[in-house]
Amino acid sequence: RKLYAIDGWGAPYFGISDQGHLCVKPRGEDGPVIDLLTLASTLKDEGLELPLLFRFPDIVNHRLNLLQGCFDRAVARYEYQGCYRGVFPVKCNHDRELITTILETGAKFGWGLEVGSKPELLMAMTLLGQAPGSLLICNGYKDQEYIELVVQCWRLGIEAVVVLEQFKELGLLLRVAHKMGVRPKLGVRAKLSTRHEGHWGSTSGEKAKFGLRPREIVAVVRQLATLGMTDCLQLLHFHIGSQITNIRVVKEAMSEAAYLYAELVDLGAGMRTIDCGGGLGIDYDGSNTDAPASLSYTMQNYANDVVCSLRDVCLERGIPMPTIVTESGRALASHHAVMVFDVVARPPTASEMEPHIVEELMAAALEAGAGTGAQPGRAAARAGGKGRFLLCSFNEVLDNMEATACSLREAYSDAVYFKEEALRAFKLGVLSLEERATVDLLFDATCNRILHLAAAAKLPLPEALQPSTRPHSATYHVNLSIFRSAPDTWAIEQVFPILPIHRLDEEPTVAATLADLTCDSDGKIDRFISPVGNEAAPVLPLHELRSAQPYLLAMFLTGVYQEVMGSAHNMFGSTHCVVVRAADCCISPMPDDAVIHDGEGKILGNGFVVDHILRGETMADVLGRSQHSGPEMLLAMQASAGAAVLEGRMSSEDAEALVQAFTRQMHSYTYLSF
Ligand code: PLP
Repeated sequence: RKLYAIDGWGAPYFGISDQGHLCVKPRGEDGPVIDLLTLASTLKDEGLELPLLFRFPDIVNHRLNLLQGCFDRAVARYEYQGCYRGVFPVKCNHDRELITTILETGAKFGWGLEVGSKPELLMAMTLLGQAPGSLLICNGYKDQEYIELVVQCWRLGIEAVVVLEQFKELGLLLRVAHKMGVRPKLGVRAKLSTRHEGHWGSTSGEKAKFGLRPREIVAVVRQLATLGMTDCLQLLHFHIGSQITNIRVVKEAMSEAAYLYAELVDLGAGMRTIDCGGGLGIDYDGSNTDAPASLSYTMQNYANDVVCSLRDVCLERGIPMPTIVTESGRALASHHAVMVFDVVARPPTASEMEPHIVEELMAAALEAGAGTGAQPGRAAARAGGKGRFLLCSFNEVLDNMEATACSLREAYSDAVYFKEEALRAFKLGVLSLEERATVDLLFDATCNRILHLAAAAKLPLPEALQPSTRPHSATYHVNLSIFRSAPDTWAIEQVFPILPIHRLDEEPTVAATLADLTCDSDGKIDRFISPVGNEAAPVLPLHELRSAQPYLLAMFLTGVYQEVMGSAHNMFGSTHCVVVRAADCCISPMPDDAVIHDGEGKILGNGFVVDHILRGETMADVLGRSQHSGPEMLLAMQASAGAAVLEGRMSSEDAEALVQAFTRQMHSYTYLSF
């Protein structure tokens, strides 16, 4: 629990059961509990292979109510004479299920959507068209067609606001509105001078990509005034960047925006709404600090500061208090998606290699160490004994180690030295391959003996051998593409919580890094949340793999930006997605026969329902995306097999089997299957 800081980033949705399994509580502390291992294993038995993306819409509902509750409390506390309405920025995650869940839950609070492109607008029109009066914030760059679509939204009864991101959009908007005979509702996005320092800080400040500078905002108001249309300007929008880690930045931005809002009112604009954009952060590393992967404030602090800053300025300037809108994506939807994947391999330890090979190499080292020279082993013989001195000295380190903290520290630093020397010697052609392999084995043997002696005598481990900092980590290969499922780990070094979903009652003994399935050396994860402090750790504490037993990990907080930005590097396609809803009827402890049936896409169990499963892309799907047509490929394969039969390289039965296997593969999952 402490090791993975789960209470810091996961409460109240994720915890550890008495059996050492990761459990999910989609409705927070008091709701039903889902054992993730049981769920994933059951689905695997039903034929659904890993990796699996689990979606828990109940978590989104919970967070939406939480956010609304925080603002409602702040409104009451500060006697604010306006209300709060949230909009979900659909770019964070386009999934239909997620967006409809948000709209259904948010309907009673007047929630809506934020869009930034024409396809997003089309989607929002269809979803909000059914619910007249819903709020739609239209951001992003716009052309004539975009604005014409917004006009249609108004006609459908959707409360859409066109937010000017650039000054030149005003002329276009006025032309289209005039042509279509409507009075537009518009907003301006302001470039605030307040900046935040995180990765997304460049969204704010005067050099920001989006928004209007003060002089452009004044020009918009003046132009509207000449047309008698200042009442059309109704909303002020700003967004200073995602994952704000320090509440001071929120306070500063709110103060600047509130005065800007008041000035627009004074200039005669028909202001009603202030849209504070996104930025509300989440605690990825659980450290509750203002480190980039964390935040040092609560959702309630955020709501209080937004509401209080606006109230103060409105009272000071004697103006009506506007409706407050926020566009929180990360804070709303990150927790709802969990990626479960398996470890497929790690390099063999000495004990897993052919025992006689290890023995021979070690014997060679011992012979070298003995310095007799009478019967040199294979390693020593191959290189004419050139590496003998090195092996001999290394061997002495291993032999002479004592059970004292000082001796263990010294042994470790000697071992590192000899390993580096051996590498240099190999590069100069002085050491044979077998000698280099022996040095590797001696290094592992030294580390193992240090660990053993330290444990037996309760001695402190050398710093570098502590499980959380050990540089000589094992690489665990995982059945996942980070470019598909967690691109931010690669693109912006985002740290996500990752941990095993079972064996959590066992001490992890391996310091690991993760390597994904892609043939790309960037396809790795070597930054993890740290149990102490707020610096990312270079290794993840994991368990030794057990033969023939799966070892399942999960990556959390991946519900925004990851799916939408993931790519098909190496043709790894979308993963299976399992939508799990907590069923109200049954919240008793998990019975042995927890999973009852798999008819019509539903598996029922302990207080939860697998609502539906979206199958991930097949190989034919991903190939088809690059114009490799499945039917044409099959024809080509049939032709090649036919030719091989004709030329006597294959029997017709083998050719038939080949075509069948090829067809089966084309319709299979792109990930490894065990
Ligand atoms: N609104 C706008 C205009 C954005 O650009 C973004 C993302 O950066 C968001 C809202 C969502 O921000 P967050 O995920 O921090 O809530």
